[in-house]
Amino acid sequence: MTATLPRKAHFDIPAGVIYLDGNSLGPLPKGAAERAAHVIQSEWGNELIRAWNSADWISLPKRVGDRIGKLIGAPEGSVATGDTLSIKVYQALAAALKMRPDRKVILSDSGNFPTDLYMAQGLIRTIDRDYELRVVKPEEISQAISGDLAAVMLTQVDFRSARMHDMNAITKRAHDAGAVMIWDLAHSAGAVPVDLAASKAEFAVGCTYKYLNGGPGAPAFIYARPDIVEAIEPALAGWMGHDAPFAMELGYRPSMSTERLRVGTPPIVQLSILDAALDAWEGVEMADIRSASVALCERFIQEVESRCPALKLASPRNPDERGSQVSFSFDHGYAAMQALIDHGVIGDFRSPDIMRFGFTPLYLDEEEVARAAEILEKIITDELWRDARYQTRSRVT
Ligand SMILES: *Cc1c(COP(=O)(O)O)cnc(C)c1O
Repeated sequence: MTATLPRKAHFDIPAGVIYLDGNSLGPLPKGAAERAAHVIQSEWGNELIRAWNSADWISLPKRVGDRIGKLIGAPEGSVATGDTLSIKVYQALAAALKMRPDRKVILSDSGNFPTDLYMAQGLIRTIDRDYELRVVKPEEISQAISGDLAAVMLTQVDFRSARMHDMNAITKRAHDAGAVMIWDLAHSAGAVPVDLAASKAEFAVGCTYKYLNGGPGAPAFIYARPDIVEAIEPALAGWMGHDAPFAMELGYRPSMSTERLRVGTPPIVQLSILDAALDAWEGVEMADIRSASVALCERFIQEVESRCPALKLASPRNPDERGSQVSFSFDHGYAAMQALIDHGVIGDFRSPDIMRFGFTPLYLDEEEVARAAEILEKIITDELWRDARYQTRSRVT
């Protein structure tokens, strides 16, 4: 049975706020605070260390991984959770390079999120100076896939512009060239339909605090294609990736599943919150999320373009080439976004001039989207952004 959207009753969103930043930090799901309180007071407080067994903390990383897997087309047991996305990028890349020892080039694009590129640069410095990170423009990726690549590492949906790569086509091209494919799904999981199994990509990684609403610092996830798992040599060979952590063996012997990409003790409180957050996805089809998301994005673009001609669309106009976010460029984008937030519409800003708006059909409807555009029109037409309080940049934009 498909659930009707939106499901606002699953979230605690402050009254008077139109939240268009679920692409950056999802809102608080109902039940998350209660679950955290239960884990802390009852499980940790009363059960103490027994809770690893009695409350089944030990299997929580896998249970949560399987719930995420359902949203990204990954089979049971193929998604491990924990650590941060940056670490998962490092692990996937290190494993990919080991799989192609005779090749020395990693291909990525200039639209990628900086930490993905930084992790690649750091890995290269650690292992061998002969390796090269080749970064081309997003639209040049297909032509840049050549026979010397060890790995192609891309983020499917661009965090700035929402431009979306064709996952199946690029993966096929990478494989035809003999390269290992790594997808970062930070802006895809819970945002657009993904069929990882069908894509045949070797690795995928993502975070859970954006569209999956797991809360600030929620654990990341990593997928490895089941048929390659046993050949993966984990660069971070932690005890939680060991085949038998409590055998306390002196030598590392990896688990025979994706669990080998886990590192250390899982963050149980944060994982529990994420588990509660995933309740909002029960019975939801990603195809329904997608059609609602396209409708919300189209409506917003149409409203903003007719009301605020000074703003220029910085996302692809064709919905098939766009994720679940819309960006506009405006010279005074930072100040305008601060003014907008002050007026109850929360989006965010990315350098140099991008006003970013995320659309999340789980808790947003068209009426709110139209209202947000109306408020934005007032900020721009009346130049409310000129107020001195909107000019100073905070550390987080
Ligand atoms: C949000 C995001 C990150 C953040 O990484 P963390 O380690 O969770 O801070 C990394 N990569 C991409 C593509 C992102 O969108």
